[in-house]
Formats: sequence, structure tokens, C-alpha cells
Amino acid sequence: ALPVIYAITPTYSRAVQKAELTRLSNTFRQVPRFHWIVVEDSNIRTELVSRFLAHSGLPYTHLHVLTPRRYKRSGMPRATEQRNAALDWLRTHHKPRDSGVVFFADDDNTYSLELFDEMRSTRQVSVWPVGLVGGRRYERPMVEKGRVVGWYTGWKADRPFAIDMAGFAVNLQVVLTNPRALFKRRGSLPGMQESDFLKQITEVGELEPKAHNCTRVLVWHTRTEKANLENEPRQTQDSVVI
Ligand code: UDP
Ligand code: MN
Repeated sequence: ALPVIYAITPTYSRAVQKAELTRLSNTFRQVPRFHWIVVEDSNIRTELVSRFLAHSGLPYTHLHVLTPRRYKRSGMPRATEQRNAALDWLRTHHKPRDSGVVFFADDDNTYSLELFDEMRSTRQVSVWPVGLVGGRRYERPMVEKGRVVGWYTGWKADRPFAIDMAGFAVNLQVVLTNPRALFKRRGSLPGMQESDFLKQITEVGELEPKAHNCTRVLVWHTRTEKANLENEPRQTQDSVVI
């Protein structure tokens, strides 16, 4: 059987949230052997997300953990606690030999279906280009003779792994055999979440290039504009499900 793809999606309450989750679920429903781990940045599992997932038609796990307020400042890494909660869940709910592939799927990105075909064969850690990130049309791993030898990027080129969260997948075995590999708050600089995590589990020379030796963009770091609600009434009797 195909290994299950576990997509980890941190998400938080805002006007566009249900629209984002709708776009994502419409993609994910078309992916075979898929399990969605949705982690709300919240004290509770909200009604909105609970109902949404129950009707999504997808196999899912619904977790929640609130980001401490001191970490909710601009320039600070986002969704650290949520991604770690998902890694904890994976570790407590799997046996050592279970097969799977783990992928970090932020709620505002755009995912092609081919991306999931590519990541499915991840043996340890695989990588591929990401569109619309790093101040360029794309960032990508540079590949020579089937190995990653460097990074094409316009931003912080000295990052050990100059790659966005959407640019890699990890075999579940690697998550299970490195039980202490987590995303860091302490000592973590902006843009270093991916490098800080990846260096705990792999080396650049061991990365598995996907998407035709990293020459195809199959995922885009799109960002949704904040909704304009300036004409929203303060009070409303209108009972619409949004
Ligand atoms: N996120 C979150 N809490 C926040 C901000 C963001 O859980 O306070 C989630 C968000 O829904 C997304 C991920 O963290 O899935 C990355 O956030 P965002 O897309 O805003 O980051 P960027 O596009 O700047 O990398
Ligand atoms: Mn984003």
C-alpha cells in the first residue's frame, strides 16, 4: 500500500480562515492515502473548524495549542507550537515500523496534485522548488549528479537549508527515530525554522531532490490579502453561516 501522507496545517481564526481551509480541502480530497493534521492556534477546538473538518470528507486529526502571547509579534516565527503538537501526535500514535510521509502544509499556500505524487516516495528527507518566495519567482535546491549542492535564493543565502516550510517532506520513520527533533523558539532567528529543524534530522548532501531534479515548481507560497471589513456593521441581526 502507498505510504500515507500526513499534512500538518497550523491555522488561526480570521475572516479568511474558512475560505483558506475550503481551498485546501478541495485539493487534499483528491489525494489518495492522505491524512490531514489540522492544528488550531487556539485554546480550544473551535466550532467553525470542528464542523468544517467533520464535513470535509477527509481523514483528519484535529488538535489545538495556543501560541503564547509573547511570541505573537511580527518578525517572530509563526506556528512553532502547532507544528510541534502535530509531531508529538505522530509520535504517540504510531508504531516504530509504520509507514508515512510528513509534510508541512500552511493554510494559505497553493498545492498542485503532482506535488503529492513526488513526495510520496520520500525515503528520508526530500526537497523541491517553492514558487513566490524569497523575493523571487521561486527558490530551489541546486542539484548536481542527483545531489543537492546549494540553493538558488534571493534571501539569506547563508541559511544551511535555504528552503521554505513547503519545500520539503520527511519520512515518518525519520520523525519517529528522532524523537527530539522539534521546531525551536529559543535562539531561533527569523527564517531559520526550516534550517533549525532540518539540521536535527539530515544533512544537505543526503537530501532527495524531487520534481525533476528540482526544476519544476509544484507548490506556491501564496499569501492571502487580509479581508477588508471596514464596512461591516458593529451589530447585526443577520444570521448567515460564514
Ligand atoms: N499561523 C498560526 N498562528 C498565527 C499566524 C499564523 O497558526 O498567529 C499559521 C497560518 O495559518 C499558516 C502558518 O501558521 O498556516 C504560517 O503563517 P503565515 O502563512 O501567516 O506565514 P507566512 O506566509 O508569512 O510564511
Ligand atoms: Mn503563508
